[in-house]
Amino acid sequence: MALQRARAPLEWVERDLPRPGPHQVLLRVRACGVCRTDLHVVDDELPGIGHPIVPGHEIVGEVLERGEHASLAIGTRVGVPWLGWACGTCDDCRRGRENLCSAARFTGYQLDGGFADHVLADARYCLALPEGIDDAHSAPLLCAGLIGYRALRMTGESRRIGIYGFGAAAHITAQVARHEGRECLAFVRPGDHDAARFAMSLGCTWAGGSDQRPPCELDAAIIFAPSGPLVPAALAAVRRGGTVVCGGIHMSDIPSFPYALLWGERVLRSVANLTRRDGEEFLMLAPRIPVRTEVTLFPLEAANEALARLRAGRLTGAAVLVPGA
Ligand SMILES: [Zn+2]
Ligand SMILES: [Zn+2]
Repeated sequence: MALQRARAPLEWVERDLPRPGPHQVLLRVRACGVCRTDLHVVDDELPGIGHPIVPGHEIVGEVLERGEHASLAIGTRVGVPWLGWACGTCDDCRRGRENLCSAARFTGYQLDGGFADHVLADARYCLALPEGIDDAHSAPLLCAGLIGYRALRMTGESRRIGIYGFGAAAHITAQVARHEGRECLAFVRPGDHDAARFAMSLGCTWAGGSDQRPPCELDAAIIFAPSGPLVPAALAAVRRGGTVVCGGIHMSDIPSFPYALLWGERVLRSVANLTRRDGEEFLMLAPRIPVRTEVTLFPLEAANEALARLRAGRLTGAAVLVPGA
């Protein structure tokens, strides 16, 4: 399902099977999650999107064929996340910040992704998946789970965390946070009672509209919704010294706000995708919690419908495409 040009529906395209190059593997896609970032790609909200491009960066696949130097065994089940390749030699790569590598290439954005029945991936950037979690339920771990994990790390030792935007990433983050003994409060779209109930069912201690003030001061906030006005709202809700983490790759403009909201050593920062180390740590941790992902399955050819449901907020948990379903 390829994006042939900006802001167009995805189209079913038939292509010859590609052959894996050096370090690459050819995967049969078993499942691929649908992420908010896929909508940003379709909507042309990220710089430098090449067309045509196949979106999808929460890929669960099985190795069918391997190129020279690719060490994964045929038949291995692996995950392919957003970070598809990094240079390995720049300052950022050498300091463990390969996610910030300026030459990095990303799955479903610069590299064809998993809204397909087959995909090529660099074996060095594939992640081992935990056994005991099936393909569809593993897929959302690969971006929603990973970005949530990294965002949570960025809140340090914060005990009481507000999560703005209660979709795929939040529903996993809340489970990790609770496992770590933290308290979570959920901010949903005003009036979205289903999302509020879903958040409470995952152990959040409070759920309300993003236009509401929480009943208590927060130590930190994580914003997953791509809405700039949530930034001053979250800053107003965190205590002095608290952190606000923006977890999305794109956000509407942040309105100006009084310096008093940032004063008191509050920290405002973004989180950019993931490193392989995040992937390894989180995928070891997820089955121990265990993280339970809520998924809605769509056949591959219904990718546009899955995107539309995500855009409209008419999904609980994560949408996952399954080829041949
Ligand atoms: Zn680099
Ligand atoms: Zn994503």
